[in-house]
Amino acid sequence: MSKNAFDSAWNWEHSYAELPERCYSLVKPTPVWQPGLYVFNDLLAGELNLEKLSTLDPELLVEVFAGNRVPGGAKPLAMAYAGHQFGNFVVLGDGRAILLGEHLDGSGRRHDIQLKGSGLTPYSRRGDGRAALGPMLREFLISEAMAALGIATTRSLAVVETGELVMRDGMLPGAVLVRTAVSHLRVGTFELFAAREDIESLKALLDHTIARHYPELADAQNPALALLRAVQESQAELVASWMAVGFVHGVLNTDNVALSGETIDYGPCAFIDRYHPGAVYSSIDRQGRYAYGNQPGITAWNLARFAESLLPLIDADSKKAVSLAEETLEVFPDAMAAAWLQRMVRKFGIEKPEPADRTLIEDWLALLDKHRLDFTNAFRALSGDENSEKSQLKQPDFVAWHQRLEARLKASGISPAAAQALRETSNPIHIPRNHAVEKALDTAVAGDPLPFQRALEVLRRPFDNSISDHTFSATPSEGEQVYTTFCGT
Ligand code: AMP
Ligand code: MG
Repeated sequence: MSKNAFDSAWNWEHSYAELPERCYSLVKPTPVWQPGLYVFNDLLAGELNLEKLSTLDPELLVEVFAGNRVPGGAKPLAMAYAGHQFGNFVVLGDGRAILLGEHLDGSGRRHDIQLKGSGLTPYSRRGDGRAALGPMLREFLISEAMAALGIATTRSLAVVETGELVMRDGMLPGAVLVRTAVSHLRVGTFELFAAREDIESLKALLDHTIARHYPELADAQNPALALLRAVQESQAELVASWMAVGFVHGVLNTDNVALSGETIDYGPCAFIDRYHPGAVYSSIDRQGRYAYGNQPGITAWNLARFAESLLPLIDADSKKAVSLAEETLEVFPDAMAAAWLQRMVRKFGIEKPEPADRTLIEDWLALLDKHRLDFTNAFRALSGDENSEKSQLKQPDFVAWHQRLEARLKASGISPAAAQALRETSNPIHIPRNHAVEKALDTAVAGDPLPFQRALEVLRRPFDNSISDHTFSATPSEGEQVYTTFCGT
């Protein structure tokens, strides 16, 4: 295949680069010494109408994914943004990521193609612009698992090894992740220009975000307020979908909140094993700010930062802008609670939630906490699976609770088969349990890719009860339990 065949595989546009120049810096990826393709996502390539890439000379493919050769038609840039990190405002920007451009798939849907770990940018601060292999494989694996669970997420097209070492806790093999996202617009993108009182850029970003993600709002009477409302709704849906599978993002800083409603930035994230609302995994989250049960609340806080940055666009009269924004923000807790209830009742086989279901669910969760049960496996045991938690459900308080569920199901009129089908498609079996993910990654970094490949196969079929490999369904033993994950990405 010729080099031109590679260039013609893409269908580039660059709408972000049309924003004011303050929104980005044009910067090329820094070439790496000896790139090698570690994993390529054929499935995603197919979805993006990039199947042509799979037929190309792998040596050419790897040159592009490593950043050694910029494909024709790409326009590499690093995005400018800020964010509240653990509550403090910080000016950030893509310190180790470079956007090649927006690829339009067969249906005209737009996907950012970004290289993560591709070298220094004007926003690198004290970082090296690089990434280590383990964390990039982790993002690949967990984002694939999330997509298979039906949760909105950025995706991973490939991971390449760089042949170079990066310095973290010791020297580690370096890597570049090729990330795709419907966009990389964040709450922090707006925050940067609000802090600078750059109304022109804010306005351009507003129009850009609406055109890209919420085109139905183009004619809204107050587009900024309408965008706030729409982002609130998509965040409520997203966080509810996390809560329903026990996902803890780990670093819900405002720079890691995508306006599209996709999950972004897989750092110290984890799925809970034993149910506990205060579960925290990130080693740097000492106050539990981003604990499992705090995610709805911290999302409300993040949305308030978004609202603040929109104020000058909401109304020229700042008092009026504040009162309009507050009115809108007030709706979030109810929207969040409704989205949570909708997701949770399905896990029990209930189709349409009723207000009283909240207590039923909370009582169940309190029992899981009290008896120290595994979140994922307890739900599967409820559907009849033979697993570690099954016998626990025979305890009297569970039996009493179960009678309430039975009565509720009976009153709803749903057939037992339909309720069971709902449970089986809402309660995953195989989730990226931390101890098992870490094991696969350690083995990968040590040179054996097989457990990583096997993990990918299993995690792409989270509801498949015909899989006999229990690596990602078994509760960790005492010694295997992971309490912290590290941010050293
Ligand atoms: P994160 O914690 O991944 O959301 O990153 C927060 C900020 O730190 C972003 O602006 C990143 O681009 C930047 N950053 C993280 N790691 C590096 C690195 N190795 N080199 C340069 N910038 C980095
Ligand atoms: Mg980030």
